[in-house]
Amino acid sequence: MHEKADVVIVGTGAGGGTLGAFLAEHGWNVVMVEKGGFFRAEDFSQREEQAMTDFNGRRGLDATDDNSVFLNYAEAVGGCTVHYWGDSFRTPHDRLERWKTQRGIDWMTPAELDPHWDVIEKELGIHIAGPELFNENNRMVKAGCEKLGFEGGAVPTARVDCLACGWTQFGCAYNRKSSQLITTIPRISKAGGRIYSDAKVERIIVENGKARGVEGSFIDRATKASKARFRVDADVVVISGGGIGSAELLLRNFPNETIVGKRFYMNPHFFVWADFDREIDNQTGIPCAYAVHEFRQVKKNAQGDYAGGGYIMLSNHQSPGILSAMLAETGAAHTERMKKYHQLGSLMSVIDEEHPGRIYIDKNGIRKSEMHVQGVDQLKAVDYLQNASRIFLAAGAKEVWIPDVYGTIVRNENDVRTKITRRSVQTSAQFVAGSHFLGTAPMGADPADAFAKPTGEAHRVANLYVADGSAVPGSISVDPSLTIMGFARHIAAGMHTRYGR
Ligand SMILES: Cc1cc2nc3c(=O)[nH]c(=O)nc-3n(C[C@H](O)[C@H](O)[C@H](O)COP(=O)(O)OP(=O)(O)OC[C@H]3O[C@@H](n4cnc5c(N)ncnc54)[C@H](O)[C@@H]3O)c2cc1C
Repeated sequence: MHEKADVVIVGTGAGGGTLGAFLAEHGWNVVMVEKGGFFRAEDFSQREEQAMTDFNGRRGLDATDDNSVFLNYAEAVGGCTVHYWGDSFRTPHDRLERWKTQRGIDWMTPAELDPHWDVIEKELGIHIAGPELFNENNRMVKAGCEKLGFEGGAVPTARVDCLACGWTQFGCAYNRKSSQLITTIPRISKAGGRIYSDAKVERIIVENGKARGVEGSFIDRATKASKARFRVDADVVVISGGGIGSAELLLRNFPNETIVGKRFYMNPHFFVWADFDREIDNQTGIPCAYAVHEFRQVKKNAQGDYAGGGYIMLSNHQSPGILSAMLAETGAAHTERMKKYHQLGSLMSVIDEEHPGRIYIDKNGIRKSEMHVQGVDQLKAVDYLQNASRIFLAAGAKEVWIPDVYGTIVRNENDVRTKITRRSVQTSAQFVAGSHFLGTAPMGADPADAFAKPTGEAHRVANLYVADGSAVPGSISVDPSLTIMGFARHIAAGMHTRYGR
């Protein structure tokens, strides 16, 4: 296949979809290439093992190099938004201010970004989750927070007339979740854009310091073998492969770009499981209708030492297969725990980490990553496990499981203080996941510390842009999709002004 376009966009997720729709609807000839498959509502069987093998990265088995952190992401038309839960938070003002002052990105202000978010929120039907989307787990998290006086609230969620079936994470079978798959992608197509699935970009074509297009292979989904070659010639190339995919592609093409992959943020997710000793509906509704914001900011004591916070908490749904992998027990003890599946409440952390990991290509040419929750981030994880336990105990849970290798169970405040310690959050002491991949090809004014300029264009290659999680300079401290979309739309508007059509 040989295509010609004004712009070729690598990746069709939150960043690529948003940018592509803006440009296609402003008269640009758009081609998108996506290495994952094209799945539609009728392909989503609501079976987790099928979804994980169909469109989760490395078939649901990707992890950091020592297997201590599970990497959860989608490769499909629509990117991770096919998997995502739809929680849609605007970037906190303190984070915009940080990136404006520390990284010289002058458009990181509510005044610049709010107009983009206003449009996106309308297009995706983002609204505050009503009671019809709450399951019993969400209600218990809310009740616990209210009892303890913790700040929390119903989340802004991206869905329209949701049936609350509970299977969001494995692809919406009813076309009610506003993933890119059913929002921006059809709009791009309608505006004349062409979207190629199972098309993996391998080479970014650069001539005389200017990006000119991309080349790659159509992939056989079953074997991952190359079936045919493609090439797209374009005036502008946009990399929107996600925090992992963009880093891999850029590292392979520009091995001298030492900043690429150097900082790999993922907002480590730790989990707690609360046994209520009664049926808890944690399977229907939406996974997270209620989030806990009380601890987003780090608190310091008079000496300037860490004294708590640095994370938000999300009500958490987990399907049986994923739960079974999360528990540390084996054999009969594992079976006993799994028998309680229907009486478990759950919360997960979004740790605002200060020690990111890294992505690299190893000596065998395999893309790998490294991440250890360390230093103050371990203290945040302990604080989270303690406060999550307190919320469920206040809501009436009989006991709370910390899914560590020690089988820690807490039943009262004394247990919370004495049993949940740093040993539970050492590397590999419990299941940890990441799903918010950010910062691997960051924007910034300083070419020595940024891959892309504040405009999104690469410092060292003209007409090459990044617009996705990789371009976001660091952890956002809340779920990232709306930040990525807002930034991508801002970058798209800048491109349109710069190049015109
Ligand atoms: C289970 C789950 C739940 C989540 N829930 C939420 C939530 O509720 N709220 C929230 O804000 N965020 C959530 N997230 C995170 C959010 O979905 C992602 O942060 C966001 O979609 C990332 O956008 P992106 O544009 O950076 O990349 P992606 O959406 O990941 O898109 C990148 C795409 O590029 C493709 N690609 C990569 N490399 C290549 C290549 N070489 N050639 C061709 N294509 C390539 C990939 O296959 C992928 O489809 C969730 C994530 C997961 C996994």
